[in-house]
Amino acid sequence: MDLLLVNARVLTMDRRKPSATAVVIRGDTIAAVGDRSTAEASAGNHARTINCQGLTLIPGLIDSHCHILAQVAAIQGLDCGPDSVSSIAELAQAVHQRAAQTPIGHWIRGYGYDDTALAESRHPNREDLDTVAPHHAVRLNHRSGHASVLNSLGLQLAGIHADTPDPPEGVIDRNPVTGQPTGLLLDMAGYLRDQLGRTSSDTEVEEGVKRLSAHLLGYGVTSVQDAGPSNGLSQWSTFSRLRDTGAIGFRTTMMAGFPQLQDLVSQDLQWGTGDDRTRVGHVKIMLTLTTGQLYPPPETLREMVEESHHLGFPVAVHAVEQEAVAAVAQVLSQVGLVSGSRGTPPDRIEHCSECPAALIELVRESGAMVVTQPAFIYWNGDRYLEQVEPDLLPHLYPIASLRRASVPVAFGSDAPVVRPNPWPGIYSAVTRGTREGRHIPEWSDAGTTGHDAVVLDALRMHTSAGATSEGSSRRKGSISPGKLADLVLLDADPTSVEYHRLKDIRSVLTILGGSIAWNEGLKEI
Ligand SMILES: [Zn+2]
Repeated sequence: MDLLLVNARVLTMDRRKPSATAVVIRGDTIAAVGDRSTAEASAGNHARTINCQGLTLIPGLIDSHCHILAQVAAIQGLDCGPDSVSSIAELAQAVHQRAAQTPIGHWIRGYGYDDTALAESRHPNREDLDTVAPHHAVRLNHRSGHASVLNSLGLQLAGIHADTPDPPEGVIDRNPVTGQPTGLLLDMAGYLRDQLGRTSSDTEVEEGVKRLSAHLLGYGVTSVQDAGPSNGLSQWSTFSRLRDTGAIGFRTTMMAGFPQLQDLVSQDLQWGTGDDRTRVGHVKIMLTLTTGQLYPPPETLREMVEESHHLGFPVAVHAVEQEAVAAVAQVLSQVGLVSGSRGTPPDRIEHCSECPAALIELVRESGAMVVTQPAFIYWNGDRYLEQVEPDLLPHLYPIASLRRASVPVAFGSDAPVVRPNPWPGIYSAVTRGTREGRHIPEWSDAGTTGHDAVVLDALRMHTSAGATSEGSSRRKGSISPGKLADLVLLDADPTSVEYHRLKDIRSVLTILGGSIAWNEGLKEI
């Protein structure tokens, strides 16, 4: 039976036909887009009709950079963010309470602590945690995702002792006198994953994914690209299982971690393998500056990109600092495109957080797409205003400058680093406004267009540009005949609400592949 949506303000994100008032859905696909009479003419006799009550209908939002399994773990773990705990004493108390409810042998995981927001202005250490949870392994993740603190039992299980050498990509923080690890580990998430394997059960993951799905569909997110740098066969089987059991309520594109690439290829998993629900995406490569040196060095990065391309994969390279952004842009300019394939998406620079004008030119020349996180301005902007060099502030997440230079840009949340709600990010992309209502200065106002175009541009980065970034433009990213029927009816029109209300927009009705996946009380007529 066809589904007919009428009386909508349709923002199609299709430049050839930007607006409409009715949509016909047949099966999982959009069959027609137009006004009510043309839609009724093309719908079957027994079509179900939904009156959209004049609300705004957009394509399902795409989160182009997220860490789904880490976000799931964060939903279930202890919230250690600044909204929940303000000192190490409070943090320890929360761990203590969690330990009392947690069977021995299970990990206690905490998420989102911020050393700069704690009263003591330092990271917690192993002793802080040993005192309150001596019999459990404890791991607290920093809000950045680039640090974690383990207690003594946790360190022991991870095989980290005084004589354990630092891995090349990270740092084991040590007491300068005794040489003993303090518990603080920098950029060692991959190392810990290798040492510890998964620390949550299938049932826990399934429960958490269901909760995350409800959140995302309520925000209007229907597709997520998972940017896990260690994604391999085990993550692929987890995502496939979550699809088969119906636990995961959104479409997933799983990037392949570079270290796992050969494993995936040996099982015939290539870029684009899978179906509309679960696909293999780019190769994810981490380029970090944690140790003070670029890791991997640019020559190695180049070989990694060439190897990925040779195997038919485009790459998505994590680059935050100017040095890293410059290195990846240079490498991508030198290596050319993915070999022998049509329809593969562009290579990507993930984050591109610090990007002064001279670098923007380099990024443009590289031909890469930038997948960035305007929500960092919202959630972290107040901290940037305190801590980042004033000269650098206008060059943080310079979305308007990148756009003016014709660099293709798409948006992701990077959850769980910040929350997976796309709307605060859309708000900050338009206003550069922070959570506390301050503003990060902009590099230049020249060329900025009116309100509508800017908001529409921000929506494009979460729809049509998101589809480009994952290589699914033929099937996603706009409301056009032949595309997947992933649609979101919003409780406010983003192009006409006051800017400050952008961050509070929610879905009233989310349709995924022609089926109603989320409904806040809209009735059929
Ligand atoms: Zn990330």
